[in-house]
Amino acid sequence: MPRTDDDTWDLGSSVGATATMVAAARALASRQPDPLIDDPFAAPLVRAVGVDFFTRLVDGELELPADTADARAAASVLTEVMAVRTRFFDDFFVAAARAGVRQAVILASGLDSRPYRLPWPEGVVVYEIDQPEVMAFKTQTMTGLGARPAAAAHRTVAVDLRDDWPAALRAAGFDDAIPTAWSAEGLLRYLPPDAQDRLFDHITALSAPDSRLATEDHPDTGSALGEKADQLGRQWSEYGYDVRLSELSYAGERNPVVDYLRACGWDAHARPRPEVFTDYGRDFPDSEALAPMRDSLAITATRRR
Ligand code: SAM
Repeated sequence: MPRTDDDTWDLGSSVGATATMVAAARALASRQPDPLIDDPFAAPLVRAVGVDFFTRLVDGELELPADTADARAAASVLTEVMAVRTRFFDDFFVAAARAGVRQAVILASGLDSRPYRLPWPEGVVVYEIDQPEVMAFKTQTMTGLGARPAAAAHRTVAVDLRDDWPAALRAAGFDDAIPTAWSAEGLLRYLPPDAQDRLFDHITALSAPDSRLATEDHPDTGSALGEKADQLGRQWSEYGYDVRLSELSYAGERNPVVDYLRACGWDAHARPRPEVFTDYGRDFPDSEALAPMRDSLAITATRRR
């Protein structure tokens, strides 16, 4: 279903289902030989959502085809690509905390379990923001699983990122006088281009000097990535799960993230995804099927003094 300005969702529908999809991927990635990540909460969270396709995937009842190089590359989106992406953001938060940053904000956190599984030092406050139904479901499920946040203070903020989320974040105790580590992972394409700029404007206004940000950019916001996403969706429909991923994101011209952040007063750096693979001793899958993803950029930025 096409997006609307004020659409909402739970974790089984619309954009919310993409959070379940990437959590399923983290569950699979955690079980790879020599895994880059370990997310013990991913599989139970996916089971709790109850989308049959993703549940069967995390329970090993369903194997995606791996008979051709392209099929293996497509399957690797759910393992290697997600493992590297997750690890990149994990390492970003761990490094920021080690450097003394005591406030973290995970934007569009979905089924991300970082507040529960990263080694947050004493005194760090971790905020998570996502839509109300998403936040409520995750909090309730994690409580039911007996999970306890690893962060000394963990605050969830249930608000739409197209609304006045800075006010909601402040109301939850956010302090704009101290540096913050921000992540926007798997989010930007689900915002219209002007809302993406507004998001960075708000982050900038809330960021004390030395704040840090990690995010991604997909320079090909046009058809190639959407086309690939839909190919994946068509493959999944053979297993009874119908999704048009391209309909969930917004195509069209966007400001390049690095340029935009620099203009807002951030020292911003981008690295192509294959380089991040190399950092972790992995090779980016050599397949045309993943060509649009090869151009994706992993971005880190520090707010200038
Ligand atoms: N960052 C999480 C991760 O990597 O596991 C989730 C990524 S998932 C692909 C996209 C997430 O963005 C969903 O949890 C969805 O609810 C959230 N999201 C997208 N647009 C949003 C909006 N306007 N307001 C709040 N959350 C939003």
